[in-house]
Amino acid sequence: MDPEVLIKRLKILENEENKIKKKIGEMEGSLVKKYVKCGKEKCKTCKFGKGHGPYYYLVTYKNGKQKWKYIGKNPRKYIKLRNLNLELKRLRNEKKKILFELKRIITLMLSNI
Ligand SMILES: [Zn+2]
Repeated sequence: MDPEVLIKRLKILENEENKIKKKIGEMEGSLVKKYVKCGKEKCKTCKFGKGHGPYYYLVTYKNGKQKWKYIGKNPRKYIKLRNLNLELKRLRNEKKKILFELKRIITLMLSNI
């Protein structure tokens, strides 16, 4: 294969990898499910049940401090994290193959000098 094509593809893969890493970075932390009591005296949901929700929070630690970020009722975006990690693995595998191929080409070129 043409090394220039390989290098181009490598750059695209690195770009995609960085994008995914950024996305994952924004989602790092643990997803916590919580029920909330509204405090209204007559609220049956709170009186007879666990409260309102569940609501999801992303709990992160920064400089030893715990931070709670409200996510809402739908944590779907955060469940996607697994898929993103799989995608990252796929990109890294392809990168490894390309680097291997480039190394092979370079070795071949050097032996022809
Ligand atoms: Zn309530």
